Amino acid sequence: MSTRASSESATTNTTTTDLLIVGGGPAGLSAAIMFSRLNRPCVVYDSGLYRNEGVAHSHTIAGYENAPPADVRSKIRADLQEYYGHSAEYRKGKIVEVKRVEGENRFEAKDEEGRSINARKVVLATGLKDHLSEIPGLAEQWGKRAIHCIFCHGTETREQPFAFLVTEKNKAFNPMMISSIFKLWRPLNHTKSYIFTHGLDVEDPAGQGRKDAGLEKDYDLVRSLGYEIITSPVESVYENTDKTALDIKFTSHPPITIPYMLVFPEKMTPSAHSPWLAGLFSEPLGPMGTIPFPPAPPVSEGEAQAKGMPRMGDDPKTSVKGLFWAGNSGSAVANVAMSVAQGQMAAAMAGDELGEEDINKLRH
Ligand SMILES: Cc1cc2nc3c(=O)[nH]c(=O)nc-3n(C[C@H](O)[C@H](O)[C@H](O)COP(=O)(O)OP(=O)(O)OC[C@H]3O[C@@H](n4cnc5c(N)ncnc54)[C@H](O)[C@@H]3O)c2cc1C
Repeated sequence: MSTRASSESATTNTTTTDLLIVGGGPAGLSAAIMFSRLNRPCVVYDSGLYRNEGVAHSHTIAGYENAPPADVRSKIRADLQEYYGHSAEYRKGKIVEVKRVEGENRFEAKDEEGRSINARKVVLATGLKDHLSEIPGLAEQWGKRAIHCIFCHGTETREQPFAFLVTEKNKAFNPMMISSIFKLWRPLNHTKSYIFTHGLDVEDPAGQGRKDAGLEKDYDLVRSLGYEIITSPVESVYENTDKTALDIKFTSHPPITIPYMLVFPEKMTPSAHSPWLAGLFSEPLGPMGTIPFPPAPPVSEGEAQAKGMPRMGDDPKTSVKGLFWAGNSGSAVANVAMSVAQGQMAAAMAGDELGEEDINKLRH
């Protein structure tokens, strides 16, 4: 049984370890702490590209309400170093390749400095990348005045004017966005609410624009509740000069000023630092750019439908033996607390597999 830190070979520039964790966000750092409880060695790589970079305050993290996300990460890193620095190694750097070595039940990875990591198990905690509508100014406001989640920063918009943006590229998610207005956002008592359809014509007699905007079911309700629908394409979204609100310009509607607006990403992909991730799997990535579910045995129709949903905190295994997912890499909807829990699950399962393999060697 190993109680040592990872071993290094200076001649081959190779680190040998039980677990490589790719990603130093909440999921990866929590996996490292959990795994360290087993007194086994692990190496964490953190390339410094966090999904909530630029966000001033985090919410819903128990014990850290309103804390900057960077403070949360640095506290977990400090704990990792203080309590488990003898077995866990945290490295700033990017992994550029991960390969399973067939027949040897292990993985070989390379970092951008050319070092090799020989690991028996790997946790992918690489996060994901949000792709926004290409409206000038929008990207700079992401996580500030252009927000995507009521739990992350919606509450701060209460009792002020607010807008919901739906776009053609997001037509699959727009019905969910519109129903969330009723289910989640109404208690925030926005003093004036807009729905921007960014060119989708909700009065089109064929009904396509209304359908694509997610308004097919509840158009009349939305109107009767006083939501103002602006169908003109949004031309730009910039913060005003005194930095108190957004100036929204339209191609064929007078400009308006609102403090905040809701925007869903139009696409999600693996982290820009992990373009190699998709190549590890024979199945295609999930609809939100996430690590695919392993192929399942035939299931009933209801279960098959449920598999279309984003996963929350279920099985951390992937279809590749010894390769696990945690956090947004496998679950686009996971917030920080869920990512922490998923990191723990992945580390526990990796430790369980290692233990079983070790004991099996003694049995044979
Ligand atoms: C605008 C915004 C606001 C949010 N606000 C909140 C909030 O208030 N509360 C909340 O609970 N959640 C919030 N979230 C969600 C939160 O950001 C995610 O739940 C969380 O970041 C997921 O953690 P993660 O570890 O999976 O990914 P990340 O935090 O994105 O970390 C990914 C890690 O992987 C690393 N990485 C990627 N590829 C490589 C590679 N090849 N080599 C080495 N390292 C690599 C990155 O550098 C990084 O260390 C917000 C999200 C957004 C977009």
